[in-house]
Amino acid sequence: MRAIPYQFVVNEVAKMCQEANFELGNDVIDAFQDALKNETSPIGQNILQDLIENANIASSERIPMCQDTGGSVFIVELGQECHIEGGSIYDAINEGVIKGYEEGYLRHSIVDNPLTRTKSKTYNSPAIIHIEMRPGSECTIHMSAKGGGSENMSALKMMKPSDGIEGVKAFILDTVKNAGPNACPPLVVGIGIGGNFERCAYLAKKSLFRPIGHRSQHQELAELELELMAKMNLLGIGPQGMGGSTTALDVKIEIEPCHIAALPVAINLNCHASRHKEINL
Ligand code: SF4
Repeated sequence: MRAIPYQFVVNEVAKMCQEANFELGNDVIDAFQDALKNETSPIGQNILQDLIENANIASSERIPMCQDTGGSVFIVELGQECHIEGGSIYDAINEGVIKGYEEGYLRHSIVDNPLTRTKSKTYNSPAIIHIEMRPGSECTIHMSAKGGGSENMSALKMMKPSDGIEGVKAFILDTVKNAGPNACPPLVVGIGIGGNFERCAYLAKKSLFRPIGHRSQHQELAELELELMAKMNLLGIGPQGMGGSTTALDVKIEIEPCHIAALPVAINLNCHASRHKEINL
């Protein structure tokens, strides 16, 4: 059994939280650059240039790229021959989030109680943590600093099998259209189809961890991702909702089997601050 010290996990998670907020991934920057070449609206072009400049300033001055420093979402691929020595992986990740957000002067955006709105006293914790067990002794942690505005415009629908693929496409496009400027476009659109009520939401979230430009390995889903992205970019919403041809930077679809009576579909919108980091421990 391989052991990873608790404090090592805490320190690595703290680093990830800061890097996610300070350094936008190359996949996102490249997507901005590509969009700039194709954007038809002069205002849209200016906004894309501003987003690139904003990302450069955040990186060079070590400041957050957005005032919304995100809710911390983790997917951990944990080998069954590996354990955290000295504490639980949940505690280690939450302690890392607290350390990273406190020491990085990152806004703490979590309320302890969604009804009374009392603010969490432990910086950005608790994090949302999903653990996927794997064979072997590796441990890979994926982290996203997920923006609240884009999360708010996400949607889930228990569709009927008779709605079919055309019904699914219409629901996805309506969700993006209804979001308009509120999800801070240009967007990365994560889609989960199948599973059940909670599983399709997880699939949609998980799809957002795939880097921009990485297509589904299923040919028909890869084609559907491109078809939906092209249709989203004809909606005219554009960068920051100011009009233009860049509403979506990418579309990701994850799919799983489901009940004979069901067609669950979840759409998790991510804003242009599409922040995700990964470490192998
Ligand atoms: S949704 Fe994204 S871009 Fe908009 S305020 Fe939140 S983090 Fe920033």
